[in-house]
Amino acid sequence: MTRSRVDWGDVLSMTPAELAQLLHDEGQPRFRARQLFEWLWRQRAESYDAVRVWPKTLQQVMAQRYPLRRLTPVETQAAEDGTTKLLLAMQDSQRVETVLLPHRYGYSVCVSSQVGCAMGCKFCASGLKGRVRQLTAGEMADQVAFANRILAPQGTRVSRVDVMGIGEPLDNFAALMRFLELVHDPAGLNISYRHITVSTSGLVPRMKQLADSGLPVTLAVSLHAPNDRLRLQLMPINRAYPLTQLIPMCRYYVEKTGRRLTFEYLLLKGVNDDEATAHELGRLIRGFPNHVNLIPWNPVEEHPFKPSPFAHVRRFQGIVQEYGISCTIRRELGQEIDAACGQLRLGEEVPVSP
Ligand code: SAH
Ligand code: SF4
Repeated sequence: MTRSRVDWGDVLSMTPAELAQLLHDEGQPRFRARQLFEWLWRQRAESYDAVRVWPKTLQQVMAQRYPLRRLTPVETQAAEDGTTKLLLAMQDSQRVETVLLPHRYGYSVCVSSQVGCAMGCKFCASGLKGRVRQLTAGEMADQVAFANRILAPQGTRVSRVDVMGIGEPLDNFAALMRFLELVHDPAGLNISYRHITVSTSGLVPRMKQLADSGLPVTLAVSLHAPNDRLRLQLMPINRAYPLTQLIPMCRYYVEKTGRRLTFEYLLLKGVNDDEATAHELGRLIRGFPNHVNLIPWNPVEEHPFKPSPFAHVRRFQGIVQEYGISCTIRRELGQEIDAACGQLRLGEEVPVSP
């Protein structure tokens, strides 16, 4: 398992086994670790005082030695379709954005993995200012726990997690692995690996590491172009990992995990949405279990593109399907609150209500 060594001051990023070690070092019996993990992730205890099953003295000792660094709400914006964008503050006052999305089957949450992003894709709002810092596993998992807190009055909770918010999750690999373990744990957030999707711009060596980890999470690869010339114009990462490396690694992922892979393809008017490009895409990715999700581009003021008209999107879909590839058009939620894919940006730039 590739995960970072634990920071003993960061209780929220600890696995149950690490909590057991910590509490053992404090002279506590094993069951206290189990209790703490459940209270941290099921009840979302804001402080040790809230761990009601603990003696007062233990609550005080823990608060002194291992302060809990929970996310705190800064602002919540809800769209008419039920999508809710959360702006949450971390201990160092950096902010993180998380989106809670309603579906027929229940709720999913779109989790951020970094403050900003280093990848510099030419169509995306998240990377406009580069990468400011990595999120810890606890800061990622707490986004899911916070969403559960919002859903609690409805008697429901998050059932799917997409690591598709701000940041490139495979550029924060060790924390991502730890996060996956935390959200999956049945004593805590209890999300099955099959209900977790990790989206990447295509960091090939890390994709291999994820495949080799054996965790059956769904991988979504942001492709956006079927040839290197076009992809390079949109995604600088393609210089390091061109399609001759990326596509074979996608096949490897599918073979290794037995999971169908998703290609994300956003359509930019007059750039990558013509018929010839659709055929080229079909030829590139046919022949192994995958699915194409067409994303209408969500406008970002700083970038010069235009979204493809819906008729082009439909035509593009029809052509991809001719290759026997399953292809859907993403329903975009929460656009009026800038909560849709690629519209999340550094938290500081979001107007904060007084
Ligand atoms: N860094 C990862 C995950 C976060 S981005 C990745 O790139 O995959 C999540 C998805 O939103 C990616 O497919 C990305 O290409 C897409 N995206 C970025 N900007 C967008 C925009 N303005 N409109 C629609 N999708 C966008
Ligand atoms: Fe980063 Fe993904 Fe945006 Fe590219 S699309 S800049 S990888 S968040």
